[in-house]
Amino acid sequence: MEIKTIGVVGAGQMGSGIAQVGAAHGFEVVMNDISQEFVDKGFRAIQNSLSRLVKKEKISDEEMSAIVSRIKGSTEIADLSEADFVVEAATENEELKLKLFSDLDGICSSEVILSSNTSSISITKIAGATKRPQGVIGMHFMNPVPMMKLVEVIRGLGTSDETAAVTNDLAKKLDKTPIEANDFPGFISNRILMPMINEAVYALFEGVGSAKAIDDVMILGMNHPMGPLALADLIGLDTCLAIMEVLFTGLGDTKYRPCPLLKKYVNAGWLGRKTGKGFYDYTT
Ligand code: NAD
Repeated sequence: MEIKTIGVVGAGQMGSGIAQVGAAHGFEVVMNDISQEFVDKGFRAIQNSLSRLVKKEKISDEEMSAIVSRIKGSTEIADLSEADFVVEAATENEELKLKLFSDLDGICSSEVILSSNTSSISITKIAGATKRPQGVIGMHFMNPVPMMKLVEVIRGLGTSDETAAVTNDLAKKLDKTPIEANDFPGFISNRILMPMINEAVYALFEGVGSAKAIDDVMILGMNHPMGPLALADLIGLDTCLAIMEVLFTGLGDTKYRPCPLLKKYVNAGWLGRKTGKGFYDYTT
């Protein structure tokens, strides 16, 4: 089936980025969230991102308007019936994703591929919530989506070769580089990245150094483009905690125990950039 319309579930930082990249590459996009407020927030993020590209003269005003006009906002999951390919990018919560995939399975025609942008949750388990495990796959974009080249592609146990081929092909059409990973908690990217971030939070918790010192050591000493605590703030501390919990329970090893300070920040609603405060303050 030719993919003309991409359905994106979740209009947060990842969903809005995926919608933007889809529309920028000529696809029609349905961008869904639970309320108009979240859909509007997604559109604002897209406008801001595209405005920066206009300023840098990478795209024209007309191109920006054309990209935005290809994205249709939606607050009804039933609107996803229009999609030829779905990318789910809702909050990192297993129960929520299982319910969404069960609903999408009833809404989308049987040949439509249902992909998840989950950072860590088992694709095999998500596929188990549907009657089309062959058509369910992980399509893990990186943040910020318009900038980052990688798409980690994760096959569930029952994912068909055809589904993997179509997904790899779509990633290339979006000017991304797909890399396949097997279905283990955190896949490749977060199996490696998230324990490093969690360890940086432990270093802060135990007073090994200040947030700035920890980040500067990794930037200046290890040549990382940004420090792990600033990166955690960019990802969202709720998402980081959810991923650590999946690693901890899924792999059963205490080395993945989420740092109590990370839990405390999430309980306080300090989720990083998206709430204005995390390890750093973004309100000034
Ligand atoms: P976010 O908090 O910015 O956005 C999540 C959005 O999902 C919110 O707008 C929320 O209202 C919406 N949502 C919740 N329930 C929904 C439902 N039932 N239907 C439709 N929308 C719903 O989070 P995010 O950072 O965009 O993360 C989204 C997904 O992408 C998660 O699975 C996360 O693990 C994954 N991911 C995140 C990053 C990152 O750096 N933040 C990177 C790669 C993958």
